[in-house]
Amino acid sequence: ERNKLKRLKANRAATMDGVEIALQANIELPRDIPAVKDVYADGIGLFRTEFLFMNRDTLPNEEEQFEAYKTVARAMAGKPVTIRTLDIGADKTLATGGPRAETNPALGLRAIRFCLAEPQMFQTQLRALLRASAHGKIKILIPMLAHAHEVDAALNAIEYAKNQLRAEKIRFDEDIKIGGMIEIPAAALALGLFVRRLDFLSIGTNDLIQYTLAIDRTDEAVAHLYDPLHPAILRLIAVTIQAGAKAGIPVSVCGEMAGDKQFTKLLLGMGLRQFSMHPAQILQIKQDILLSDTTELGVKVGKILRLDEPDKIREAVAKL
Ligand code: PEP
Ligand code: MG
Repeated sequence: ERNKLKRLKANRAATMDGVEIALQANIELPRDIPAVKDVYADGIGLFRTEFLFMNRDTLPNEEEQFEAYKTVARAMAGKPVTIRTLDIGADKTLATGGPRAETNPALGLRAIRFCLAEPQMFQTQLRALLRASAHGKIKILIPMLAHAHEVDAALNAIEYAKNQLRAEKIRFDEDIKIGGMIEIPAAALALGLFVRRLDFLSIGTNDLIQYTLAIDRTDEAVAHLYDPLHPAILRLIAVTIQAGAKAGIPVSVCGEMAGDKQFTKLLLGMGLRQFSMHPAQILQIKQDILLSDTTELGVKVGKILRLDEPDKIREAVAKL
């Protein structure tokens, strides 16, 4: 049994028809790294950096952020480490004031919107991220994108930070990849804007479901309406995976759906090849992947995507 578990951990996740699937980990803080190493994750697919900023009275300065990002980059020893820029707002708030009290915080000055409104704070984070990129394979992920001009502004801010570092003769990875979260329905419905500007995409199903179905993900009273299998959700995920494949840029899913075994075969059948989840879910998902056939799933899921009756979808997904 011990040996079997060890083999499961060390072997790469590949389907029965030989397709390699990347299983990456979501983390909140550098202290999560031992759990990631324990399951031999293929990198970090989502480092939610807001946890460095929360539950404290002051913002972390460049040095403190640099140390945190560098620690993770070094620990992952060349495996990709996808670090998301600050996603504060909605249910995640700053003690230092941050976005003001809003009537609809989930629709307010959240994530990239907040960062673009606080350019100095954003520069501090970008400088720390770029400096850490000299110590491992860091990728930068921008959350909550809806507009092309938000991508352009974020890319300009990164360019500005790079130029500053060059002038100061501070090292960073000149080839650092920049990606965007697809978690607002508008982004999934206008993917061209994003694939043209970015190196990779990551689907945030938690927010994609919240915003598509107009369900506050923290409100218990509407939790029964929060449905990952709603046909609208399936279509938005599928078109995003397809657009990435067509443009030749990687797409991952880093929302809760990626770590839920009910949806593994569905996502594989949609063409997903990169999953990011809580480290505790990786081995279970890997076991299911080892028993999957992407060709067969592609055909079956193609049919599911043409269904729109919830019961039929649920039944077909359960049978995959
Ligand atoms: C998501 O929205 O699915 C996601 C991964 O981001 P978060 O849960 O941090 O909003
Ligand atoms: Mg999100």
